[in-house]
Amino acid sequence: MATEATPTADAADLSSDDDSEIRLRNVTKRFDDLVAVDDLDLTIRNGELLVLLGPSGCGKSTTLRMIAGLEVPSEGSIEIGGEEVTEALPQKRDLSMVFQSYALYPHKTVRGNLAFPLGKMDIDDDEADERIRRTAELLEIDDLLDNKPGQLSGGQRQRVALGRTIVREPKAFLMDEPLSNLDAKLRVQTRSEVRSLQQSLGTTTVYVTHDQEEAMSLADRIAVMNDGRLQQIGTPKEVYENPVNEFVAGFLGEPSMNFLDADRLRGVDTSDDSFAETATVGVRPEDIAVAEEASGRADGGRTYELDGEVLVVEPLGNAYEVEVDCGDDRVTARLRDRPSAISPDSAVTLRLPADAVHRFGADGEVIG
Ligand code: ATP
Repeated sequence: MATEATPTADAADLSSDDDSEIRLRNVTKRFDDLVAVDDLDLTIRNGELLVLLGPSGCGKSTTLRMIAGLEVPSEGSIEIGGEEVTEALPQKRDLSMVFQSYALYPHKTVRGNLAFPLGKMDIDDDEADERIRRTAELLEIDDLLDNKPGQLSGGQRQRVALGRTIVREPKAFLMDEPLSNLDAKLRVQTRSEVRSLQQSLGTTTVYVTHDQEEAMSLADRIAVMNDGRLQQIGTPKEVYENPVNEFVAGFLGEPSMNFLDADRLRGVDTSDDSFAETATVGVRPEDIAVAEEASGRADGGRTYELDGEVLVVEPLGNAYEVEVDCGDDRVTARLRDRPSAISPDSAVTLRLPADAVHRFGADGEVIG
C-alpha cells in the first residue's frame, strides 16, 4: 500500500546525511612573527560535537575561523566532507557560525528572523516555510513566531538565535563561546539545550570555549590547546582521567589538580625506576583523604602520605574543601564529609592512593 509522505517535525528532517567530517592537516597560522596555530592535525568526526578548549590566546578562535574560511592557513590543508576547502570562500563551505553576541533583528518577528538566513539560499517559499515550522517546533518557539524579540525572555531569544543557525541546515555548526554573555543559570540551561539539540540533529559541531566545565558537559570529544599546539584529544573522561601532560592535568577540573615535588611524599618505593624519573606528582582534590579517614579507594594498593596543617575548611553544601599547608606546597582536598577532627590549625596527614597519583617528568609529560 502506498503511503503518503506527511511532513513531520522530526529532528532527522533537519539534519543532513552528508559526510561532513572536518579534517585539518598540519595547519599552521602565522600573523607576522606570531604563530597562532602550530602544525595542527585534527579530525572532527561526522556528527560529533568537538570542543576546542584552552586558555585565552591559545589559538582556538583562529582554528575555528580557518574552518569557517574567515582566515586562510599559512600552511597545511582543510577538508570538509572529503573536499578540500583550504582557500574556499566562507559562503562556499555550507557551515553556520554562531558567535558570542546573538544579534536578532528587533523589528522583525521571530518568523522574520528565522526566514532571514534562508533569503540568500536557493529554496522556494514552501520549503522555507516548512523549515521554519520544523525549526520552531524543535526549539519549542512555535507559538512565538509572530512575536518580536523585545517580547521574549532571554532564553527564548537565545533559542531564536539558535534557530537561525539550524534553519539553514548546514553541514556543520561552528560555535565560538556562544554562551559567554549569558548569566550563569541561563548559560547552564542553554548549554544542555545546545547539547540535546546537537544530539537530535546529529550535525557535526565545533565548539570553542575556555571553560573546562562547559567543555566537559558538552563534548563528545575535547581537543585541548595551549600556545597554538594541540595538547590532547579525547572524550571528557579520557582527558580528565588520563591527562598526557601537566598542562592538561591542571586545566581540567575545579578545583584544579594539586602538583607536588615527588620527593615530598612518604611511602614512595625509590627502587621503582619509573618513580626515579618522576619530578612532579599530581593528585586531584577529590582523591585525597585527610587524617585517619578511609580513602574510599582502599583496594589493597599503596598509599602515599604527606603531613600538613589545615588552613581553611570551606563548606560547599554537598562537600567540604580543605586547604592544607604542607610546607612548600598548599594542597586542596575535597571531602564529602567533614571529619570531626579537622579545623583550622589541626595537624593532619594527607593520604594519596597511589593509583590516583599522576606522575610527570621534568618536561611535564606524563610517565607510565
Ligand atoms: P580567546 O579565547 O581570547 O579568543 P583564542 O584561544 O581564541 O583566545 P585566538 O583568538 O585564536 O586565541 O588568538 C591566538 C593568537 O593569535 C593570539 O596571540 C592573538 O593575539 C593572535 N591573533 C589572532 N588574530 C590575529 C590577527 N588578526 N592579527 C594578529 N594576531 C592575531
